[in-house]
Amino acid sequence: MTLDLLLKDGEIVFPGRGLRKGSIGVSKGKIVGIYSQSAEPAAREVVDCRDKWVLPGLIDPHTHIGFGSNETDFQTESRSAALGGVTGMMTFHRSDDLTKSTGPWKERGQAQSLIDFGFHFGITSHQQLQSLAVCAQTHGVTSVKVYLMYKGKAGQAKGFTEVDDGLLYAAMETTAKIRGGVVGVHCENVEVIPHFRTRLKEAGRDDLAVWDEQSPGFLEAENVFRVMYFGEKTGCPVNIVHMSSAESLEIVRRMRKRGGPAVHIETCSHYLSLTRDAGCGILGKVNPPLRQQADVEALWEGVAEGLITTIGSDHVPRKVATKGDSIWTATAGFPGIGTLLPVLLHEGVHKRSLPIELIAAATSANVARLYSIPNKGDIAVGMDADLVVVDPDRQITIDHETQLSHSDYTPYQGLTMQSAPCRTILRGRTIAVDGQLLDDAYTSPSGQYLHRS
Ligand SMILES: [Zn+2]
Repeated sequence: MTLDLLLKDGEIVFPGRGLRKGSIGVSKGKIVGIYSQSAEPAAREVVDCRDKWVLPGLIDPHTHIGFGSNETDFQTESRSAALGGVTGMMTFHRSDDLTKSTGPWKERGQAQSLIDFGFHFGITSHQQLQSLAVCAQTHGVTSVKVYLMYKGKAGQAKGFTEVDDGLLYAAMETTAKIRGGVVGVHCENVEVIPHFRTRLKEAGRDDLAVWDEQSPGFLEAENVFRVMYFGEKTGCPVNIVHMSSAESLEIVRRMRKRGGPAVHIETCSHYLSLTRDAGCGILGKVNPPLRQQADVEALWEGVAEGLITTIGSDHVPRKVATKGDSIWTATAGFPGIGTLLPVLLHEGVHKRSLPIELIAAATSANVARLYSIPNKGDIAVGMDADLVVVDPDRQITIDHETQLSHSDYTPYQGLTMQSAPCRTILRGRTIAVDGQLLDDAYTSPSGQYLHRS
């Protein structure tokens, strides 16, 4: 047998299991063999991976394609992802009629995306809940998100009139009946925020830290309790998405002792690397807010002990012009899909000595398992050959210009990260090398839709 591709003599990172020297054989887009030294078959293409890590391609569990430009985000943001070693992404889709809108949105992705992609549905009305069972069948979407920060007045300002605890409970009841179903929740008690905001505004505050002060960590933690408790009552697996605070983790630890259905915790690379005192100023506005160093360290502990199982970017590719010059009116969210891997390796592996297989698990195997994505997220015979080769010794300085995103800034501008992705492979096809996309990745994007079982 002649292989299509051989990744020779790398340090293979098996998510959650450890590191082993070896070579990976690829044929017809699949991993067909893992070999110890000099036992490999011949291959049409051999890539020397000595002194390099080989990880499963990342699957970013949390992105917002369409928030920058509806027309071109699939193209631009998947380019940024590919450069950063991300070969799959889950993105949120929201519309009044999910049965009608999902097909066309999927087609746009298939035409434009360089990496594989799947959907979570954003739920803001009871009407949408009624189409979940049929959409699970036809589109293979089994995960939804409820935004507790769009309750009441905050929701009305965005045109949402039905977001309340009743909708949350109903979403759990409905999703519990869907095979592989999971409800993700944005936790932030939006009814208490104005109580703090009024005072802070009157005091003339207009800095990044004030965003945390108006929505402190315990307002997230309070919602986390409610979500876990409702999950227990409805028997629905829940996912606390983009967890940001130490207090929330504390609630999870306490509630876990009660047993009940699965509770998954996701955090994001920015909560593991940036604080409310970050140099990026109001460009770091995000919901939930960036917190303090103690929260960053607590979240890393959560990752280390396996309490936090997935890490995403919450990628929002808007232009810097949408920020304006005040924290109070700036849009929230920033790009992160292209920096996800370097930031996690730098902050987790190099600075805090976390085992690299934990980072790999949280960004590949655990994501694939949580969202029932078949044939993805691991390095094993029969899996899709989605791989990223990383040079642990190369440093990169982050610059928005080289990120290729629709967005024209990054909160990490000018920061240097240890470890750089040097080759990204999607189903056996190399799409990026040393910070450059390959020509045919531009001209014939081959991202596929992730239909989940
Ligand atoms: Zn959210």
